[in-house]
Amino acid sequence: MHAATKTHTILVIEDSPSLASLLRRVLGENGFDVRVAGDGDAGLSSAIELDPDVLILDVGLPRRNGLEVIKELRLKGIEAPTLMLTAHRTVPDRVAGLDAGADDYLTKPFDSDELVARVRALLRRSAQHGRVPRLTVGRLALDPMTREVWLDGRQIALTQREFALLEYFMRNAGKPLTREAIAQRVWKQGGGDETNIVDVYVAYLRKKLDDGTGETMLKTVRGTGYVLVNGEV
Ligand code: CA
Repeated sequence: MHAATKTHTILVIEDSPSLASLLRRVLGENGFDVRVAGDGDAGLSSAIELDPDVLILDVGLPRRNGLEVIKELRLKGIEAPTLMLTAHRTVPDRVAGLDAGADDYLTKPFDSDELVARVRALLRRSAQHGRVPRLTVGRLALDPMTREVWLDGRQIALTQREFALLEYFMRNAGKPLTREAIAQRVWKQGGGDETNIVDVYVAYLRKKLDDGTGETMLKTVRGTGYVLVNGEV
């Protein structure tokens, strides 16, 4: 255990009050911060609001079933690792759950230790994968983990510096950036002639992001630097 272990938030979406309170107790005793939602709609909004570290999701739920909840969450970019609770030992239920975007499943009734072990396994897996969200600006998308970049869904190959430069622009989209700031951030240096290298690399990036329309998303800010504008304007 690390000295400063973060308390993980677990959202339980379960309509059975007795099962919900059992989960709250068992997970609480194991050091997790447990929140409970009693139906699919409430679960969906809580998940969006909380962005929990792990989701425990019952399949049979009022208002919106568990499969619909997980599909909707994945569409909205909520990547919390999810353990589905299925009522029956039926293969179709489990397959449907995994297809819909769940990461693991557990059949009711289940053993409390087994549940905690599964939750810990999901947390370990998500820590390894990092689950860093993609950045998107207009038609540009960038994955900070895999270091991939797409324009209109088409992948673009960038050098390490070009990637660092684009990532900095995308994190500050719409904000004019000075050559100084860019040089400091991307090349860890600033002032004097080093800033000329910024112009050179912006030119490289413009070329790689050229979609043939003659319009560039990397606009020059006269006398100052550059700004990345949303590709749709
Ligand atoms: Ca249920």
